[in-house]
Amino acid sequence: MARIYNFSAGPAVLPEEVLREAAEEMLDYKGCGMSVMEMSHRSKVYETIIKEAEADLRELMNIPDNYKVLFLQGGASQQFAMIPMNLMKNKVADYIVTGQWAKKAYQEAAKYGKANKIASSEDETFSYIPDCSDLPVSEDADYVYICENNTIYGTKFKELPNTKGKTLVADVSSCFLSEPVDVSKYGIIYGGVQKNIGPAGVVIVIIREDLITEDVLPGTPTILQYKIHADNDSLYNTPPAYGIYICGKVFKWLKKQGGLEAMKVHNEEKAAILYDFLDSSKLFKGTVRKEDRSLMNVPFITGNDDLDAKFVKEAKEAGLENLKGHRSVGGMRASIYNAMPREGVVKLVEFMKKFEEENC
Ligand SMILES: *Cc1c(COP(=O)(O)O)cnc(C)c1O
Repeated sequence: MARIYNFSAGPAVLPEEVLREAAEEMLDYKGCGMSVMEMSHRSKVYETIIKEAEADLRELMNIPDNYKVLFLQGGASQQFAMIPMNLMKNKVADYIVTGQWAKKAYQEAAKYGKANKIASSEDETFSYIPDCSDLPVSEDADYVYICENNTIYGTKFKELPNTKGKTLVADVSSCFLSEPVDVSKYGIIYGGVQKNIGPAGVVIVIIREDLITEDVLPGTPTILQYKIHADNDSLYNTPPAYGIYICGKVFKWLKKQGGLEAMKVHNEEKAAILYDFLDSSKLFKGTVRKEDRSLMNVPFITGNDDLDAKFVKEAKEAGLENLKGHRSVGGMRASIYNAMPREGVVKLVEFMKKFEEENC
């Protein structure tokens, strides 16, 4: 068996230890005689799995008691609709558009009310985070929306926007659990887990209790109401049961690594190895304004499309896979999530140095 270094933006690398454990438990989960995939989500055994997953996540993120944790389906994209449907009481929301995902969320919200684009970095291909210290936040905005880490472009909010007292809603899909966060600054933090936590099919929504109400937009389907899921502890209908089980294992793995403080140190160290090289390279260069660089997604280019393609191909042959940039931007992108070992980044930089010598 040979594992490659997987730099995919998502679905992405998972801790090998977690995969091994899941493999061991595949046929017979703790003496049940069946796989977690085969058991009732209403069983005692499964109840323990989902309760423990929630408790571990609460501990990792230090989630205050007045927030609910929901394990839902539909991906991050379903939240683009669920958020306005549940939160747009005044039918007004402000969006900060820093990439394709934020833009999609903004466009979706516009179906349900007045969505205002109060800041954007589209003028420079989303290569930076705009100054959000004094934005024209709408008087009657139900919330202010951001995508905190822009997976495709490799930018990250280093400071949260000044929402002037309005509820902050954040898509953290690609930076979930990569560093400590102060949950109390947000109304909703949510993310698809397939970037930094687990298998595709689960989206985690951490939502302040006062935002969970029956007062949703007329016509909102039952399945898209936060209250239904909150009242039923994420078991209103069959949840993505196996995916939640894997997320739970990743939470335990993160606790064993020392929690989110330790992950931050680890992630900063890994990212520095790659960024330091990019800053000194004669061939490769990063595409993002330095102060806005993501620790998770690192886009870079040579400036020559043919050479980029050659790099991606030869890297794959060297066991460094999925380095092609997003189809909308080209070039390369290395996603170096929590589960990417330091060694993988070191190997990537060694390969880049060699490629530079051969092609410069
Ligand atoms: C991948 C991604 C999404 C889309 O996730 P789906 O689960 O495919 O809907 C949304 N936001 C961000 C920041 C992402 O990285």
